[in-house]
Amino acid sequence: MTDCKNEIINSVLNKTPTREAMKANCTWPGLIKAYKEWLPVNKETPIVTLQEGATPLIELKAIEAIIGNGVKVHAKYDGLNPTGSFKDRGMTLAISKAKEEKCEAVICASTGNTSASAAAYARRAGMRAFVVIPDGYVAQGKLAQALVYGAEVLAIRGNFDRALDIVQEIANKYPVTLVNSVNPFRLHGQKTAAFEIIESLGEAPDWLCIPMGNAGNISAYWMGFNEYFQARKSTKLPQMMGFQARGSAPLVFNKTIKDPKTIATAIRIGNPVNKEKAFIAKEKSNGSFLDVTDEEIVNAYKLLGKEEGIFCEPASAASVAGLLKRKEEIPSNATIVCVLTGNGLKDPDCAIKNNDAAFYSDLDPDINKIANIMGL
Ligand SMILES: *Cc1c(COP(=O)(O)O)cnc(C)c1O
Repeated sequence: MTDCKNEIINSVLNKTPTREAMKANCTWPGLIKAYKEWLPVNKETPIVTLQEGATPLIELKAIEAIIGNGVKVHAKYDGLNPTGSFKDRGMTLAISKAKEEKCEAVICASTGNTSASAAAYARRAGMRAFVVIPDGYVAQGKLAQALVYGAEVLAIRGNFDRALDIVQEIANKYPVTLVNSVNPFRLHGQKTAAFEIIESLGEAPDWLCIPMGNAGNISAYWMGFNEYFQARKSTKLPQMMGFQARGSAPLVFNKTIKDPKTIATAIRIGNPVNKEKAFIAKEKSNGSFLDVTDEEIVNAYKLLGKEEGIFCEPASAASVAGLLKRKEEIPSNATIVCVLTGNGLKDPDCAIKNNDAAFYSDLDPDINKIANIMGL
């Protein structure tokens, strides 16, 4: 299937699709089929897919200009997955395996994106999807998705960490499968993003910058980079640079945060379940963790929107905010990938409150007046 992907890339570069590509009806089949030899699946595994994966790696010219020094910066824009976040990479596998095991219902705790993704894939597989969310702390778009995808939504008075305790207990007691990132299949699905980065660059980057909430994704990337390195598909491993919001940074300060606070609700997590794995990734990769303020997150968020044309979630912008904060430490000519974990459309409230746009309202529908405002 990698050949299939190359076929498409080649046909796009050559402008005219090759007859072979057209004949083979060569569309991306989703990441389980594309990477099956790297994933814990067999012939009997029913594949539940929305053709997730194969997201673009986009060069960030404005960020490169700020950093200078010959540094190349790319965004792995995983907000372009079917439900708008990287969670789909893990969910296609977690739900396929749950289906293989004849499970009829799944459950997750969620700051929003896991619930959207779990609902979409579980319902597609004909399962019930229970999602437990912190009431009032899930972005509008994500809640809308869970509802439209047919989840059964349980909003609790309490934060994500409490919601996770509850779903873990329920999954232990009752016949429902837990699809949070404690589910090992989630991480196997998510590691494919590292494969795609190496395939696009022809090599691993020097740094991988990534936001951390429950720290499943950084652990998954580290697994993916290691597997491709061991298979000699890259000659080096990246340094894993993890970032958290200052008010919600248990991995940076190495302590549980009782009442995490940040505008970046997707990473508003005080007690990450994958913390051991994340610390291993940091140590083995000679990487480093750092906190960024909400203000720094919002600045990066706005910069990505208005200078790069990329609308991501505030949580995703933490990776770019962190990179800019580490500007002085970046080796010259380094290649860097920032993971943009989710789509900006998920959190319209944040967008409307945080932008520098000129917005003139209540105008008379009069050409001269409008031209005047336009400065013409
Ligand atoms: C889930 C999520 C994260 C955090 O990922 P973890 O695996 O929990 O560390 C970051 N950004 C977005 C948009 C997310 O949905």
